[in-house]
Amino acid sequence: MCYAIPGKVVEIKKNIALIDYYGEKRKVLNENREVRIGDYIYAQGGIILNKIPEKEALEILDFWREKFQELKKIDKKISKINKTESSENLLKILQRVNKNQELTKEEMSYILNINNENELKLLYETANNQRQKHNDNACCVHGIIEFSNYCKNNCHYCGIRRDSKVERYRMSPEEIIKTAENAVKNLGFKALVLQSGEDFYYDEEKLTQIVKELKKLEILIFLSIGVRSKKTYANLYEAGARAILMRFETSNKELFEKLRPETNFEERISLIKYLKEIGYVVATGFLIGLPNETENDAINNILLTKKLDADMYSLGPFIPCIGTPLEKSSLVNKDKVLKIIALSRLTNLDAKILVTTALETLDKKTKKLGLLSGGNSLMINVTPKKYKELYSIYPNKAGTKNEVEEEIKSTLDLLYSLGRAPTDLGI
Ligand code: SAH
Ligand code: SF4
Repeated sequence: MCYAIPGKVVEIKKNIALIDYYGEKRKVLNENREVRIGDYIYAQGGIILNKIPEKEALEILDFWREKFQELKKIDKKISKINKTESSENLLKILQRVNKNQELTKEEMSYILNINNENELKLLYETANNQRQKHNDNACCVHGIIEFSNYCKNNCHYCGIRRDSKVERYRMSPEEIIKTAENAVKNLGFKALVLQSGEDFYYDEEKLTQIVKELKKLEILIFLSIGVRSKKTYANLYEAGARAILMRFETSNKELFEKLRPETNFEERISLIKYLKEIGYVVATGFLIGLPNETENDAINNILLTKKLDADMYSLGPFIPCIGTPLEKSSLVNKDKVLKIIALSRLTNLDAKILVTTALETLDKKTKKLGLLSGGNSLMINVTPKKYKELYSIYPNKAGTKNEVEEEIKSTLDLLYSLGRAPTDLGI
């Protein structure tokens, strides 16, 4: 996890650099041959983005020094575990987590079935405590640009599926670049996700051109564009993309292929593995509460995310969407989502776990609760307002009516109140 403040390079071993943030050391990938020990750099997603002049770095570090320590103190205090009455069973499971032992499927099942208030409280507090112990207070806040809602696929759950009668839009490469420049230069983002339906109007050439332009902004570029050929992804890596966001959606192959007609489970999994192998930072995960999903599926979803060696877990509730084959499905309960976030944390102490916008659709408070149940990443939508509402993968998406500046302010207020350091937006 990196901070959005300059770090000092204190060691370089091959392509791995050790970075010091006010005494706290983090390992990052260094692809820049000009970086030397003693230099100041910005890093994101575990990758060095750029060098910055010493004078500028020291000024920024001076400015943030006190705030940095103050936030850590608040987080440490909030993430303590309060004594609560709990069953022997749960205590035993949580002790095993404490000793870094892997949970069995039976133990995972026990956790998913908790519904006693005290035990839920203890579960969430333990997950938050482990998050703090293993990741400290850094919280990624990436920007996301939803650049096209055209899609060749017909996923049963999705509001922009091919058969949906929604107004379609595509942002031109120039518009995407302008939006990104604004997000970086005026709003302060250091990592941007480019997301769309599976829209082959943006062919390899167009995508390469966009990625090359964005690379000039010295940011971490995430792609969330669905299945493309391995060659295209390898070329986009060459062009400067360094991360992908691609959920496997469900670990149940039968359910996957039923809900995502004309697509193939193994192909998606093999692509995610390949992308990890060639060096992409991988964000992957699943939908929570798809119709006919069993408890065993939910457990396998968590285990598969870990097996894929996800750098970031992206998991969120399935929100039934009018006009889709699943419009009449029931909405998943908030505690089920929080239990899955907490369990993901207990089974992967070091991962970044994204608290997705869909969670806020369930209930305004869930963003905060997600951050207090093991979550430590967020995204802010920086898509131009005229397109935001058209990217309607599910209804009542939080934040679509707000100006991005308001979203940033409320996110920063929330993070600071919890003692978290937003890694893209100052500190
Ligand atoms: N087309 C790309 C990326 C855009 S869709 C892809 O499918 O990978 C991004 C995510 O939206 C999907 O991964 C899916 O998990 C989520 N999504 C789609 N419909 C949803 C719904 N009804 N509720 C919640 N999330 C949904
Ligand atoms: Fe297309 Fe992605 Fe929606 Fe499926 S989930 S229909 S691939 S945008």
